[in-house]
Amino acid sequence: MTVTPPIAPEAMPIPRKPVEADRQNLVGLTRPQLRAALVAAGTPEKQAKMREVQLWQWIYQKGVRDFDAMTNLAKDYRARLKEHFVIEVPEIVTRTVSADGTRKYLVRIAGGHEVEVVYIPEEDRGTLCISSQVGCTLTCTFCHTGTQRLVRNLTAGEIVGQIMLARDDLGEWPELGRHPKDETRLISNLVLMGMGEPLYNFNSVRDAMQIAMDGEGISLSRRRITLSTCGVVPEIARTGAEIGCMLAISLHATTDDLRNKLVPINRKYPIAQLFDALRAYPKLSNSERITFEYVMLKGINDSDADARRLVKLIEGIPAKINLIPFNEWPGAPYERSDWDRIESFANIVYKAGYASPIRTPRGEDIMAACGQLKSATERSRKNRFQIAAEAGLPEPERIVRRPNAPDVH
Ligand code: SAH
Repeated sequence: MTVTPPIAPEAMPIPRKPVEADRQNLVGLTRPQLRAALVAAGTPEKQAKMREVQLWQWIYQKGVRDFDAMTNLAKDYRARLKEHFVIEVPEIVTRTVSADGTRKYLVRIAGGHEVEVVYIPEEDRGTLCISSQVGCTLTCTFCHTGTQRLVRNLTAGEIVGQIMLARDDLGEWPELGRHPKDETRLISNLVLMGMGEPLYNFNSVRDAMQIAMDGEGISLSRRRITLSTCGVVPEIARTGAEIGCMLAISLHATTDDLRNKLVPINRKYPIAQLFDALRAYPKLSNSERITFEYVMLKGINDSDADARRLVKLIEGIPAKINLIPFNEWPGAPYERSDWDRIESFANIVYKAGYASPIRTPRGEDIMAACGQLKSATERSRKNRFQIAAEAGLPEPERIVRRPNAPDVH
């Protein structure tokens, strides 16, 4: 089944809403938290479970934001809810649609910070790529988001809210009593591959994913959710136990020497430790493989020898290798590997028995591709000289600026 949302290249500013400060937002509360909040607002204990279920369905199954529309609640109870609570998702500031149909949302959260959310329609699925932090602390040297300083962790409501606002924009809230199949849903898959390191914001990510998986709500299967991590080893076991979703690892290098440079967290959790944690990940099987992401950087990590080392490393782990042609960004100290190099690398991995798809860059024209996300307010915190120095690379060529030329970073 092909999913086809309306396509039109555009950048659309969306009017701002006033911020609510004094009423609690119900979005993002776990079921027990929701029930406790309802009781604290005067809901009799005996009714609390029923009210929790009713509100949960209105919010997550039907996409309703207005208490007045909750027709199975008495009028005075709705008024009470309105006094204490709001149902709010982050605000879409702009929506940009790529020529290939990819949509990028710039989203504003409390405090005026911004994150990006990307929707990628494909033949047989629609994937929503969501963010877990504003910025990122990891400083991976090839990643644009990594040049932005962390501002803060997102709350569970801000994380699950990204799914809800995309559903609003795509017009995807089901009609009452309709339960579309996963394959025909516009948002059929979720990837935590936007801005931030999800395992550095574990509790909020877990709570948000539990809401996303809840059968009485957004109802996405855990097998359609992929959490991507650079390898925060102590949290990997917790991910298996407390979320149970699919795992993707940003590997990008096969020796500690190189990975220390590309993915600096490797200095804390080196490759051997990472692989011990992966071998212990629950439910690993051919149908539940670990995805290894591997960015193809020209002359850095893309040789045949790298490919062979990679195959050795993953031996015995049900795995898929996702090769990501490097996406360029202004001032990036790397180049994308040539196509025949990527294919030769992919072939070695494939011949060793692993799927080795090459990820087609999506939404490049709108800077929505992997590693390109970065909120406009935070651009150019670091310049390309600092980035190159941190990556241990030669100083980039200096650009002579004409008077009045825009800043180049
Ligand atoms: N912090 C998490 C989630 C980010 S996922 C993680 O590290 O996994 C984003 C993916 O895109 C990661 O695999 C990241 O390493 C990769 N990536 C970052 N910058 C990139 C770039 N410029 N080109 C291609 N892939 C990139």
